[in-house]
Amino acid sequence: AFREIEHTHKLSSIGRLAAGVAHEINNPLAIINEKAGLMKDLLDREPESEIRSRLTKQIEGVLSSVSRCRVITHRLLGFARRMDVSIEQLDVNEVLRDVLGFLEKEVIKRSVDLRLDFAEVAPVIASDRGQLQQVFLNIIANAFEAIQDGGIISIASRTSDEGVSITVQDNGCGMSSETMSHLFEPFFTTKKGTGTGLGLSITYGIIRKLGGRIDVQSEEGQGTTFTVHLPWGKRQEQ
Ligand code: ADP
Ligand code: MG
Repeated sequence: AFREIEHTHKLSSIGRLAAGVAHEINNPLAIINEKAGLMKDLLDREPESEIRSRLTKQIEGVLSSVSRCRVITHRLLGFARRMDVSIEQLDVNEVLRDVLGFLEKEVIKRSVDLRLDFAEVAPVIASDRGQLQQVFLNIIANAFEAIQDGGIISIASRTSDEGVSITVQDNGCGMSSETMSHLFEPFFTTKKGTGTGLGLSITYGIIRKLGGRIDVQSEEGQGTTFTVHLPWGKRQEQ
């Protein structure tokens, strides 16, 4: 069955709470990182021994877990980081090209069939460049993670009276209705061990702030289409 949802969720206060917690955790985490690094340096200066190599291995475990924690707290703080935002008139096609530039290595490595179909009228909206990049990076990265080698990802931009719409379609694994009902919640992920579950909740928050909307269509085993609708830039400036 073909399922469609128009997303009108509460981007929960959970997101804001999470950012607060991340902020508090960041300092002790930095201290653990520094101390474990110092321990490793000290050990490196000891003569070679069984205990030295065993301790080194354990400390490396600590360092790598700390570094994973720091990735998570940095992403969480993306929610809270509102200060360095600068709004400008942006051509969405250009932002999509920026993002595809970041992902270029992936495309080559994965032999993905990438189909682009950009609006001819420049789809200009008012936003912060970094945030808009983040929106598309999250959606496109998910598409890459959903497909097999040789899969197809189609990206299109369109303009209308209301504004700009951007569609990202993949023929990957698709989603169950259970997954679709939690999609935009912070920390919801089906990628055990590799996902943070933060991409779409951040994306959702940014789109809402821009006065836009995000729709999802998905069919398990068939693929997924995300459509982002954003209001025209000029109108937003008033
Ligand atoms: P993450 O990618 O870290 O898991 P996201 O917030 O980006 O977190 O996505 C949440 C979940 O939504 C994913 O774990 C996945 O189950 C589902 N999802 C998102 N995009 C797609 C897609 N294009 N195809 C299939 N599932 C998707
Ligand atoms: Mg993701």
